[in-house]
Amino acid sequence: MAANKLRPRLDEREWKITLVDQDETHYYQPGFLFLPFGTYKREELEKPKRRFIPAGVDLIMGEIDLVEPTENQVKLVDGTVLPYDYLIIATGTHPTPEETPGLGDDEWRKSVFDFYTIDGAEALAEKLETWEGGKLVLNIIEMPIKCPVAPLEFIFLADAFFTERGMRDAVELEYVTPLPGAFTKPVASKYLGDMLVERKIGLESDYMLERVDTENNKLVSYDEREIDYDLLVTIPVNMGSEYIARSGLGDEFRHVPVDKYNFLSPEFDNIFALGDAAALPTSKAGSVAHFGVDIFTENFIDYIHGRQMREQFDGHANCFIESGHGKGMLIDFNYDTEPLPGKYPLPGVGPFSLLQETEANHWGKLMFKWMYWNVMLSGRAMPIPALMSMAGKIREEVQ
Ligand SMILES: Cc1cc2nc3c(=O)[nH]c(=O)nc-3n(C[C@H](O)[C@H](O)[C@H](O)COP(=O)(O)OP(=O)(O)OC[C@H]3O[C@@H](n4cnc5c(N)ncnc54)[C@H](O)[C@@H]3O)c2cc1C
Repeated sequence: MAANKLRPRLDEREWKITLVDQDETHYYQPGFLFLPFGTYKREELEKPKRRFIPAGVDLIMGEIDLVEPTENQVKLVDGTVLPYDYLIIATGTHPTPEETPGLGDDEWRKSVFDFYTIDGAEALAEKLETWEGGKLVLNIIEMPIKCPVAPLEFIFLADAFFTERGMRDAVELEYVTPLPGAFTKPVASKYLGDMLVERKIGLESDYMLERVDTENNKLVSYDEREIDYDLLVTIPVNMGSEYIARSGLGDEFRHVPVDKYNFLSPEFDNIFALGDAAALPTSKAGSVAHFGVDIFTENFIDYIHGRQMREQFDGHANCFIESGHGKGMLIDFNYDTEPLPGKYPLPGVGPFSLLQETEANHWGKLMFKWMYWNVMLSGRAMPIPALMSMAGKIREEVQ
């Protein structure tokens, strides 16, 4: 998105853009949620990355080994050295099962699964196809994770999936989270917590996992609470790419600290971080990456011409929450305003409803895949403003 938006704004005789990526394939990650339940197949969620790279941008396929910020250069694993005037880091965040004792051992993808990778989601689809029931535990190990609503969506879809297969009575569902409730923000947490209760899904909150005892099928927390499972679906710790730590650019999760309004590193005045790679106090989500890049582009053009950056990102996030049986919810929030009920994007009209389950929201979520492949990635304008609006929102407080 950044390359697509910047290329037409920068004179090709003066500005060279080089894009480095280690993977020829681009994945539609929001689709991973649906793979385990057979709604999508792998082929619908992957496309060659080259298709989205504009003319006038050099694409180098290779793994970044190190950034040397004082030398203004990037080193690749194959020894290539790329000098830069400005560096934009957008290498995302990824599940790292190896961070948690017990994950990634012999039981990995036998009784313990993830769905944050395409291979994990596909393996889980195969497991669910023949699973005869028992206790399914969904566990978030540590925050922050990308798309913090995806685990809730998974458990709602699991409830619908087993109900539709006529085996819901044979399945116990439990949602185990380090958060004090179903979600990070109080109003949404109340709505989503009520949905767990309605669906008879157990909630274990404030759960800080220490290890997974795969021999005895148990989660063990630091305060010694043990939770049994027959099938564990886990969201491993999400961490930025390893080179971030080697380059001394990251926090404890290898996410890059930046100014939350303009994405500039406070330490290096020619390094920006965008999308999931950035340590921002909002959700790690495609919508945040997309809104953020709109703000970034305008600011970057000013910045390189020595002008003040005039735009300020507000942390705008916009996420559909699939809730099963052809319905979904929507949340829209930013750094200062938590998700509130109401209508979106047109006040009073919608067609989408905030914090309310509707069929229109479900169709919005499914339609988004088309928008992603055909509009968003190529940097075309989307009909949604980058900054959040209070129009259509109803203020509500939770006691
Ligand atoms: C299950 C699931 C459901 C989701 N649902 C939603 C949703 O409904 N709505 C929403 O808004 N968001 C959702 N998301 C989140 C969304 O997919 C991400 O926030 C978004 O893709 C982030 O984009 P990014 O460009 O920052 O990082 P990524 O898309 O992860 O891209 C990072 C790139 O960096 C490359 N890279 C990494 N390390 C290196 C290296 N060392 N060398 C070279 N290249 C490297 C990778 O190959 C990759 O191409 C979901 C995510 C998941 C996993």
